[in-house]
Amino acid sequence: GAASHAGRCVFYAPEMDEQVREYQMLDNELHGALERGEMALHFQPIVHLDSGEVIGMEALLRWHNRRFGPVAPDRFIPIAEHSGLIRTLGDWVLDTACAQVVRWRERGWRKLAMSVNLSVRQLLAPGFDERVREIVMTHRLDPDDMPLVLEVTETAVIEDMEAVSAALDRLKRLGIAVHLDDFGTGYASLSYLQQLPVDALKIDKSFVQSLESDPVAENLVRSVIVLAQGLELALVAEGVETPGQRDKLMELGCDVGQGYLFARPQPVDAVDHVLADSLSS
Ligand code: C2E
Ligand code: CA
Ligand code: CA
Ligand code: CA
Repeated sequence: GAASHAGRCVFYAPEMDEQVREYQMLDNELHGALERGEMALHFQPIVHLDSGEVIGMEALLRWHNRRFGPVAPDRFIPIAEHSGLIRTLGDWVLDTACAQVVRWRERGWRKLAMSVNLSVRQLLAPGFDERVREIVMTHRLDPDDMPLVLEVTETAVIEDMEAVSAALDRLKRLGIAVHLDDFGTGYASLSYLQQLPVDALKIDKSFVQSLESDPVAENLVRSVIVLAQGLELALVAEGVETPGQRDKLMELGCDVGQGYLFARPQPVDAVDHVLADSLSS
């Protein structure tokens, strides 16, 4: 049944109680997670599909909680977005990712790019572009050779087209590239896409993973590639797991991707080893 509680309508079902309790516990634990050192960034290479050459890294947030153990971002990011904590977390992610790409570039990976995921809540918070400007200045990122790429999801963008567009414009003035994440899962219209200040489309992994088995997925991916070419946008395929998927993507005209076939997201030490090996060989 339903009961009115402090002006809100609350529905009671045992499983829901359970879910609400879990949500609240995660929410509580999230506050203080950074201070307790429970957050870390993992990095997944973005590569040329033919040569495997690493051209960028995507920073992915990891949370290892003292009570719950590892909690997936798909579970805790929405909670952090809801409470507003995503702003603090997001600032930490940006700062840590920028520090890391500078370190890697200084050690010889001169052209490496660093992709960071943004939620709209962060992007639309007042003063966000100012904070990004500060981070860019603190780490002395060169606007003419900017390593920072920001990823926003297609669905997030179409929720508030005008505000998002304006916010992205301010970031682009800093030399930062913007990639449209999970492309194909939302319904961005052609005219929207044309107005958006984005540099690349990231083909969602659900399409990539159906490429070999589903002709409809192949047609979808082909249309996204044609669309990107028409709008002069770059392309990145995510979730590439098999050589067959890689070959199909290249055949269709997509040259850049990421996925378990090349490397899983991994902690910085593991990436350092790969880097040390490739620099010494
Ligand atoms: P995303 O940005 O679409 O990231 C790609 C997800 O696919 C990552 O999941 C990655 O680990 C996973 N992945 C990579 N290669 C493969 C593959 O070959 N096969 C399969 N099946 N999966 C692959 P993850 O790390 O669990 O992150 C989930 C989502 O959480 C991300 O999706 C992103 O939307 C969000 N997220 C992660 N870190 C951050 C962050 O720092 N800030 C914000 N706002 N969101 C983040
Ligand atoms: Ca992403
Ligand atoms: Ca994605
Ligand atoms: Ca996703």
